[in-house]
Amino acid sequence: MRIVALAGGIGGARFLRGLKAAVAPGDEITVIGNTGDDIHLYGLKVCPDLDTVMYTLGGGIHEEQGWGRTDETWSIKAEMKEYGVGPEWFGLGDRDFATHLVRSQMLTAGYTLSQVTEALCVRWQPGVRLLPMSDDRVETHVKITDEAGTRAVHFQEYWVRLHAAVDAEAIVPVGADTAKPAPGVLEAIAAADVILFPPSNPVVSIGTILAVPGIREAIASAAAPVVGLSPIIGGAPVRGMADKVLAAVGVETTAEAVAGHYGHRGAATGTSAHDAGRPAGLLDGWLVDTADEAAVPAVEAAGITCRAVPLLMTDVEATASMARAALELAEQVRR
Ligand code: GDP
Ligand code: CA
Repeated sequence: MRIVALAGGIGGARFLRGLKAAVAPGDEITVIGNTGDDIHLYGLKVCPDLDTVMYTLGGGIHEEQGWGRTDETWSIKAEMKEYGVGPEWFGLGDRDFATHLVRSQMLTAGYTLSQVTEALCVRWQPGVRLLPMSDDRVETHVKITDEAGTRAVHFQEYWVRLHAAVDAEAIVPVGADTAKPAPGVLEAIAAADVILFPPSNPVVSIGTILAVPGIREAIASAAAPVVGLSPIIGGAPVRGMADKVLAAVGVETTAEAVAGHYGHRGAATGTSAHDAGRPAGLLDGWLVDTADEAAVPAVEAAGITCRAVPLLMTDVEATASMARAALELAEQVRR
């Protein structure tokens, strides 16, 4: 079986670890990773979501933190600070730096981000094929208004430095409109037997991947069933501030609203004034947490087959159960 999963950072990576434990030997998992969080720091290209997936699946992640390397030290950052060089608010440890040095060296030598990611994965052996969504530069920016006025800041500045404390007025994946899917991305979607949306951030992780022209269309028209898992439980993100970026795109922070945002794959588009220009829907199936069982009828009324199962990724076994539930639902909705 060929499984394709879109993924952001922590939520995506943890789900993928459970998915790996749930699949049969011989099944192939291709991960399309978000690169809209990428940032250039100290002259280095940092790809936080790709690295979180790579470290989590490769056994190098700082477990409690969910990002960065285990047993990390911070000498380089301290030395940079002595020079007055920041940003102080972004955590890059010594071990992590090595990844960004290798990546940046290879990019400077002319390799593509796909080729670099493949090379980094030779070390980490994540057990999945990890593809960046695009080899082209895409960086998510967030429009905010604060005492400094109305401006756009890099997503990392919004998330890490400002902790999403100010409202996001717009989310713009800068560069996405002219980006091309990375080699293998559209092919993997077309050849997939199952397509999964892990409980990643629907706006700045999955939404950014879908903003690369061609990817949304490929999923909407794929032969494979598409099943998603809600990152929202009981009206709140399990971790992080997804509510802030959902509000920016006018979506309520509920499991059913996120399903509606992705949309029902059979949904006709352009048939009414309201639908005109609206993108095609994407989901055949949607999993909500048991706490949101009351949302099931509303999701199904929208045409998306919905089940309520425990969705807390407390450990690998609990996460593997979620993955099995997603794969079972995929079989039920297979056309
Ligand atoms: P990021 O790039 O590190 O922010 O990671 P993702 O975009 O892949 O995932 C972030 C999302 O994961 C957040 O919106 C969380 O609500 C969600 N999440 C984290 N832990 C869990 C969990 O245990 N269960 C579910 N259902 N969602 C989770
Ligand atoms: Ca991210």
